[in-house]
Amino acid sequence: MNLILFGPPGAGKGTQAGSLCAEFGMVQVATGDIFRRNLKQNTDLGQLARSFMDEGQLVPDEVVWKLVEDRLGDEDVQSGVLFDGFPRTVKQSELLVAWAESSGWKLAGVVALEVPDEQLVRRLSGRRTCLDCGSTYHVDHNPPAVEGTCDRCAGKVVQRSDDTEATVKARLATYHQQTAPVLEFFDSKGLVSRVDGVGGIDGVAGRIRTALG
Ligand code: ADP
Ligand code: ADP
Ligand code: ZN
Repeated sequence: MNLILFGPPGAGKGTQAGSLCAEFGMVQVATGDIFRRNLKQNTDLGQLARSFMDEGQLVPDEVVWKLVEDRLGDEDVQSGVLFDGFPRTVKQSELLVAWAESSGWKLAGVVALEVPDEQLVRRLSGRRTCLDCGSTYHVDHNPPAVEGTCDRCAGKVVQRSDDTEATVKARLATYHQQTAPVLEFFDSKGLVSRVDGVGGIDGVAGRIRTALG
């Protein structure tokens, strides 16, 4: 099964992705994680992405698409993909759909997590992220067992440089301007299930399962 887990920054996509992938045999493809890995390794792609990420802007569509198209050719994703943080523009959505049509790849649906902005700001400012595996935590709602250490891989857990108040505001504005229209695009294809993303992590997980039938 191939799914898009959609939602504004901080909606809980990364938090929900792990158990969904395990349950439905999908591999998570999180474009933000890929950029951060490149940043850490100081690649050309990482350098290019940094300037956009730090400003709360989107990395250009053609850069994102090249990366995703390459990733879709890998052996491990042939059993199923869970997109997290992609597509983020109508253009990226069109590129994915055109590629899917020409390659026989089938999108099962788009699960859209809905969370109001004021809650997103609280979630993002309290978010902590593992530098090694990308797992996310929250200082109040979901802290790691040992402060500063990832439960899953024992990596270092820190605050992302774009989870500061000013950048969070810019990212939310970017979401409303450029990313929210992606939902209308997939709505017109009858592919979107909206899920209330407010409430406990387990409650949201249950509602996602209900939406998936
Ligand atoms: P969030 O946790 O806010 O959903 P991500 O980790 O998905 O954040 O993305 C972090 C940043 O990486 C974004 O603010 C953007 O600059 C860049 N980015 C990630 N995915 C995409 C994409 N599909 N298109 C353009 N930019 C992206
Ligand atoms: P996204 O990947 O959509 O940007 P994350 O999964 O990283 O979002 O979640 C953003 C922050 O909110 C993290 O600190 C996470 O621990 C926290 N969080 C996720 N789901 C919930 C929830 N249902 N209730 C409260 N906090 C949550
Ligand atoms: Zn980790």
